[in-house]
Amino acid sequence: MSSKNALRKPRTRRDLFRTWSLARRLTLLYAGSSFLMLLLAAAYLYWSLVDNLELEDSAFLANEIQECRSLLHESPHDEDALAHEIQIEPAANPFIKYYMRLLDNQGRILLETPRMANVLPVASFPVAIATTEIPMRGKFWKSGSGESYLLMSVLAQVDMDGITPRILHVALDVSAEEAQIVGYLRTLLAVVALGTLFSCAAGLFVARKGLRPLKDITKATDRTSASQLHERIAANAWPEELASLARSFDQMLDRLEDSFSRLSQFSADLAHELRTPINNLRGEAGVALSQARTPEEYRRTLESSLEEYARLSRLIDNMLFLARADGPMTSIARTACNSRKAIEVVREFYVALAADRGIEVVCGGKATVQADTVLFRQAISNLLSNALNYTPRGGKVSINVQRQYDRTVEVTVTDTGFGIPAEHLPKIFERFYRVDPARSQQPNGSGLGLAIVKSIMALHGGTVSVQSELGKGSTFSLSFPLGAAADR
Ligand code: ADP
Repeated sequence: MSSKNALRKPRTRRDLFRTWSLARRLTLLYAGSSFLMLLLAAAYLYWSLVDNLELEDSAFLANEIQECRSLLHESPHDEDALAHEIQIEPAANPFIKYYMRLLDNQGRILLETPRMANVLPVASFPVAIATTEIPMRGKFWKSGSGESYLLMSVLAQVDMDGITPRILHVALDVSAEEAQIVGYLRTLLAVVALGTLFSCAAGLFVARKGLRPLKDITKATDRTSASQLHERIAANAWPEELASLARSFDQMLDRLEDSFSRLSQFSADLAHELRTPINNLRGEAGVALSQARTPEEYRRTLESSLEEYARLSRLIDNMLFLARADGPMTSIARTACNSRKAIEVVREFYVALAADRGIEVVCGGKATVQADTVLFRQAISNLLSNALNYTPRGGKVSINVQRQYDRTVEVTVTDTGFGIPAEHLPKIFERFYRVDPARSQQPNGSGLGLAIVKSIMALHGGTVSVQSELGKGSTFSLSFPLGAAADR
């Protein structure tokens, strides 16, 4: 099998129909339903015409039978009257071609319309029905020469005044009628065919006109590209069905535009963050190489470079962590974690730094939290490190853990530091966002610490929030939900 064939998916008839244009489908459905309606109407008209004609013809024959029966009943021996009724009257009628025949009960012909024997043999008639009955419908019969007849056969008289029963045959030539019906049928079929063709054309016209807004909306969406994400289409007047599509499209553009601008902001921030340590490294190397140095000077240069390398490495680690945490398939191993113990471990780590900066760190409360212990410590560590960075000497940081009434566990990190201006609060969890690095005791922060905390909480199905008052301090709260509900 060629590779081209291997790639081509098998197409079922249904798939093929699905790929048809809407105009084509609508036209087909419209024409199909019109065809069915026309066909039904034509069938009904044809059937009612044929039935009416047959009823009329049968009524005519029944009338002739009735007249003949009356004659036989009232004056059975009046042979002249009988001959007039059976032989002369039918032959003399210029408009209606019909025949009558009188037979005895042995089947011998007593009287018949001239030429009847040539066209209508006795055997072609049905079995005679009783004298009291009037046949509702005759029997159709086609002669060898192609003429059509409606036939009736009845008993005309039963053993009266010594006369044995008679059998009466009446026949109506319906060939002309039949030709008329065939003509009528042809006209009806032509009307059905023309009507279907017309409805095809009308359907195509209506479908194209009806679907024009769809083309317009496609053109409008085509105009939107990565460089023109600000274009919106819902403002135009769309039919009701498309208005909601236009609104959804605009909402999608809002999200896309937001993502695009964040992405470009992110790239700019990342470039900026990388540029500083790399420039430092280049500068140091350049200065070191500009003239002969003592081993001690080279050692100091390398030590300083190592710090920059460490900063770069931290930045890359943080970026990698955020990229992994953002992945849709990222999952964490949650266990019942003694939160107080985990907090104490983090505190121990920072106790020397805190003492160095003259800041007191206290812990309180206890609760078991369903969390990934490593990530839990990482979140507390980021918050404590920030609290220490943004709290002046003599300040205090308290870390508290408490189970809430709704059975979630809340961890708060409160400091008596500089606080955060209200207008910055909604943005501080964004990547690379920094309020005022100059106030930090660690001016080399990357602005990723809180973004990582937010990602960790998202992985746990929890939330992070902040309350802050300028000059008084800040409280960061982590809310961990109950285990099962938040598994990811
Ligand atoms: P970094 O600390 O590396 O700058 P973060 O993402 O941890 O980045 O914090 C973002 C910004 O939020 C910081 O630049 C700082 O301005 C502000 N911030 C965070 N924690 C505190 C805090 N405890 N007190 C005051 N400002 C804070």
